[in-house]
Amino acid sequence: SGNTTDMKVFLVTGGTGLVGKAVEEIVKQNDGKDYPGIKFVFLGSKDGDLSVYKEAKKIFHQHKPNYVLHLAAMVGGLFKNEANNLSFFRINNLINDNVLRLCDELRVEKCVSCLSTCIFPDKTVYPIDETMIHLGPPHDSNFGYSYAKRMIDVLNRGYAQKWQQEAKQSGCNIPVFTSVIPTNVYGPYDNFNLEDSHVIPGLIHKAYLQVQDAIQKGTKETQLTVCGSGRPMRQFIYSLDLARLMLWVSFNYQQTEPIILSVDEEDEITINDAAQLIAESFNKVAPDIKINLINDCSFSDGQLKKTASNLKLRKHLPDFVFTPIEEGIRTSVKWFWNNYDLARK
Ligand code: NDP
Repeated sequence: SGNTTDMKVFLVTGGTGLVGKAVEEIVKQNDGKDYPGIKFVFLGSKDGDLSVYKEAKKIFHQHKPNYVLHLAAMVGGLFKNEANNLSFFRINNLINDNVLRLCDELRVEKCVSCLSTCIFPDKTVYPIDETMIHLGPPHDSNFGYSYAKRMIDVLNRGYAQKWQQEAKQSGCNIPVFTSVIPTNVYGPYDNFNLEDSHVIPGLIHKAYLQVQDAIQKGTKETQLTVCGSGRPMRQFIYSLDLARLMLWVSFNYQQTEPIILSVDEEDEITINDAAQLIAESFNKVAPDIKINLINDCSFSDGQLKKTASNLKLRKHLPDFVFTPIEEGIRTSVKWFWNNYDLARK
């Protein structure tokens, strides 16, 4: 509705993924009234392969964005990363270089890209914060993904320097290219693939299959196998919370330096805690079946913890209320149960 030519365009790359779908849900709430004068465009890989400059250029010139939220990436859990470091590095570098280059060429006002807490140095002190990204090599399991993500910060700083030099001559407003650092994300529309998903969606899918099997066999109990000891600690953020925070960053955060988007440090839980919450959530949709947890310690654990500090975020948004993980997992399990056919798996 309205005269679209007066509208500013907010382009979301990776708009069909876990985080992109959550952003779409947030901007649709309240009949879209929270973001007046802004037209949101959500891109998926079907709209073009952003790792190919020509295709990326075509999409960007078609939409002429004023704002870009750059979520598109080759993403996967521990086991997919371990096997594909070269592709993770090359493809993500190509995507990021193309997107930021086009944001520069089209003079996008604000571009927010996405790093991750799993790209931080392996040997570090905790909690990690925004100043530590480049302080040492990342964990070996995902070095390709990690170095590609770190290069986004290098690009952002490089562009800032370039514009500062140009602004000395022209005096125009300079764009802001920045990045956010989410911890582990989960929610509806996740990738639930059993081989290459993150831990929560992977466990939800496995539990689903076990419960269905038990229903068919008429048994009252089943088991859920957790790969590894279940002891690693993680901060999980619900995709809709992350979406809200990313939109806040897009319109309010003006530094080039990244900002960690995470729940508080005391909200860190073990993988087994998460598995337990998943089992309890299935008990809500299938009350007759009890799920028992088992740990398969023949699998590697990955990093034992990666506690991140959200102090910078809390300085800006001291009152932001995160969705309790019990509620987020319950909603995610219910979503998967009800949308099994359309879920990515
Ligand atoms: P998903 O895997 O759910 O979505 C990835 C998105 O990127 C999809 O929309 C996909 O399109 C798109 N995409 C992938 N490759 C290409 C390509 N070559 N060209 C164009 N589009 C492409 O990822 P998430 O939503 O989980 O992640 C979003 C961002 O958040 C990523 O940058 C990720 O690194 C980061 N992140 C994620 C975390 C997590 O726990 N999930 C944690 C920390 C950071 P399509 O589906 O249409 O193929």
